Amino acid sequence: MSASGGSGTAAALRAQSAAHSAHNYHPLPVVICEAESAWVTDVDGRRYLDMLAAYSAINFGHRHPRLVAAAQRQLERVTLVSRAFEHDQFGPFCAELAALAGMEMVLPMNTGAEAVETAIKTARKWGYEVKGVPDGEAVIIVFDGNFHGRTTTIVSFSTDPDARDGFGPYTPGFRILPYGDIEALAAAMDDRVVAVLAEPIQGEAGVLVPPSGFLTGVRELCTAHGALLVADEIQSGLGRTGTTFACEHEDVVPDMYVLGKALGGGIVPVSAVVSSSDVLGVFKPGQHGSTFGGNPLACAVAREVIAMLSTGEYQERSAKLGAHMHDRLNALPESKVREVRGRGLWAGIEFADLPGREACERLADRGVLAKDTHGSTIRLAPPLVVSEEDLDWAIDQVEAIVRA
Ligand SMILES: *Cc1c(COP(=O)(O)O)cnc(C)c1O
Repeated sequence: MSASGGSGTAAALRAQSAAHSAHNYHPLPVVICEAESAWVTDVDGRRYLDMLAAYSAINFGHRHPRLVAAAQRQLERVTLVSRAFEHDQFGPFCAELAALAGMEMVLPMNTGAEAVETAIKTARKWGYEVKGVPDGEAVIIVFDGNFHGRTTTIVSFSTDPDARDGFGPYTPGFRILPYGDIEALAAAMDDRVVAVLAEPIQGEAGVLVPPSGFLTGVRELCTAHGALLVADEIQSGLGRTGTTFACEHEDVVPDMYVLGKALGGGIVPVSAVVSSSDVLGVFKPGQHGSTFGGNPLACAVAREVIAMLSTGEYQERSAKLGAHMHDRLNALPESKVREVRGRGLWAGIEFADLPGREACERLADRGVLAKDTHGSTIRLAPPLVVSEEDLDWAIDQVEAIVRA
């Protein structure tokens, strides 16, 4: 079967996007027009199980009834006022998100990259005003293989040539260390370091879980050297790994969470930095902002996301179904699968000799949507609402392409 079906509609739509959109993506040949829960439907009426979930932005599945209802209610009231005025969703959103994270203050933005930029600005300002670093000399430590977004500053410290090359001049002030190497971090800490910015599990790099004890070690070094531990949980957070935050697997509490993706319920872009009042208190009016950040519609949807996460039900589902998924993936033949990584309903599968792109094309032919990362690795991140039966069926399809 081919995704273009024969109606010509999908082919025409793909040709239009190829001709008129910048080629900064290489999508699979599937043109989606509808979705519900863990399933999407293409223009030819073919259904696919969504095993990517928009890189975790669809943690609660497509169009979750509670989230759609929250959005619809808010659409009938007020959608945008800008931060020049207060609105009735804003205070509750900040209070509820701070409570979920066990923190005090929230600074809302829209996209993940903006929240990371916000974290960088916060750490630098905190470094100058609180830590006492000489002006202009703040250093932020990041790790090899990181993915924190696509702005010019963020790609300045990317180690992926595709993400970085050709976009200079680069923003200074970052030190890149090997991910998972606590000795290297210990050696790099000095009095100019204002923050260590880390993904507790590196998603784009292929769902890389650092060696056990690494996050704990990072926490200890940050505390010892008076630097902020900034956890980019944009992809790993909000239930994906079987806990609200991936840092919880090592009982690590960062100084700042950076959140995005699932926070918007798959309906609106919502991101935020969540931290203490000592840290976020560095901002005074006019020093940072966003026209859409913290808008009523975003807050209303995010409040429903937070309410859904506060029962622990989705985290539990992710832990339980994730353990089952990992058991099954780990049983795949070693000659075909080099490694399976991840936690909860999140897996990176590194094939021995099957290019990731080809694996995803074959999976799409079998009705499963997944995404390759680097080389021979694919990533599975189904919505946390996926049924065990559907999940098993998707893993059957992975098994089939592996054994083919
Ligand atoms: C997706 C992602 C980002 C960037 O988020 P955007 O909304 O695409 O800007 C940053 N950090 C991590 C870990 C991500 O997965």
